[in-house]
Amino acid sequence: MPFRKVLIANRGEIALRVHRACQEMGIQTVAVHSTADNTAMHVRLADESVCIGPPPARESYLNMAAILSAAAITGADAIHPGYGFLSENASFAEMVEAHGLAFIGPSPEHIRMMGDKIAAKDAMRRLGVPLVPGSLGALESLEEARAVAEEVKYPVLIKAAAGGGGRGMKVARSAEELEEAWRVARTEAKAAFGDDAVYMEKYLDRPRHIELQVLADTHGNVVHFGERDCSLQRRHQKLVEEAGSPVLTGPERDELGAKVTAALRQLGYRNAGTLEFLWQDGQFAFIEMNTRLQVEHPVTEMVCGVDLVREQIRIAAGEPLGYDQAEVRFNGHAIECRITAEDPESFAPSPGRVEMYHAPGGLGVRVDSALYSGYVVPPHYDSLVAKLVVHGATRAEAIARLRRALAEMVVSGIRTTLPLHQAIVADPEFQAGDYTIHWLERFVAGMR
Ligand code: ADP
Repeated sequence: MPFRKVLIANRGEIALRVHRACQEMGIQTVAVHSTADNTAMHVRLADESVCIGPPPARESYLNMAAILSAAAITGADAIHPGYGFLSENASFAEMVEAHGLAFIGPSPEHIRMMGDKIAAKDAMRRLGVPLVPGSLGALESLEEARAVAEEVKYPVLIKAAAGGGGRGMKVARSAEELEEAWRVARTEAKAAFGDDAVYMEKYLDRPRHIELQVLADTHGNVVHFGERDCSLQRRHQKLVEEAGSPVLTGPERDELGAKVTAALRQLGYRNAGTLEFLWQDGQFAFIEMNTRLQVEHPVTEMVCGVDLVREQIRIAAGEPLGYDQAEVRFNGHAIECRITAEDPESFAPSPGRVEMYHAPGGLGVRVDSALYSGYVVPPHYDSLVAKLVVHGATRAEAIARLRRALAEMVVSGIRTTLPLHQAIVADPEFQAGDYTIHWLERFVAGMR
């Protein structure tokens, strides 16, 4: 057993996901929760639970001292941060290690490096990974921004170095729009991240978002588990993800995988990571790396038959990876729908009591959700309430299964995006795999 007891520093479906991996490995779990989550499923299922503060996340799920105290009191020997909250906070990872606990994730040094997108791009450029053309570092002035934009040609995108969740990102389609984009992106970046450093990229007009899942152990082994296509986005946020990408061939995947694993081996990276690329006209361009488990990791698990959380835990305990590259097989096709507690047309948040919850089942269907009948979705956190994931031998089979599963699923009492997902899956262009990162935005506008 790699660890005796793991504290899960998260809530919702991802806290359950981590709990499930621990239970199957014979590891005890400690849930932490705010007072808004007293009756949450992750609290009910964990072996032990500790209340760490009031509802606002900064006083509970982001409260490092309270979480470390909970770990000390319960005698946990490792912390899994899930995604969001403290998962990409290098200082937290440092504190966890300083307290003699294992952080189930990358080293603080790599979390910090990749959290600064300018530093991340610089590191990847040196390691021979292709990038989107743009500024080589931070833009120091509007004049410099103008010069870079002339060089890479409009349209351009101004992005926050500390960016995340699609914030601090502004397009300038022409020289006239540059000053405004420059000002707004910096103001947004300062407000959201306390850091107004920005950089510039050429704004690609019809790319797909394709990302590569990687695991690295502490013995120099780095293995990739193929790609996920996450092009179906609204406001730069993913709604539907697939593995593999409808447009990528096996040899293209192998080529990208070889480049990326070589780069991470050189970097000395450890644990799970995802490199995000934009793909257009057969070319990959790196945009950022996420140093954590991703929301959409289940599609990779379904296609590769790997438990990524189990591997993360084993790696954090110093065990070697359970796979070498030749053993990773890509089997069939998987699709995930992110179902949120939001109005399917206006996207207004819809927290409240779930009158009835019925999860679909059957062959090739997986639901990761912390919902149950009578549960009250609190208004304080992310609106994701369920991930419906299906697997099929082919993409067509996966789509047919997804349609069937979406029709079976019931979440009543609150509004959810289930009807939107039903409409997407019924669309011929989606069915043909014919979409870019701009497709969903237009699709949603057309539905209104
Ligand atoms: P964040 O960390 O805020 O999510 P990303 O750099 O990952 O920011 O970009 C989020 C999304 O924004 C991408 O998936 C893509 O849809 C879009 N995007 C980012 N960079 C570009 C670009 N250079 N051209 C076109 N779209 C982009």
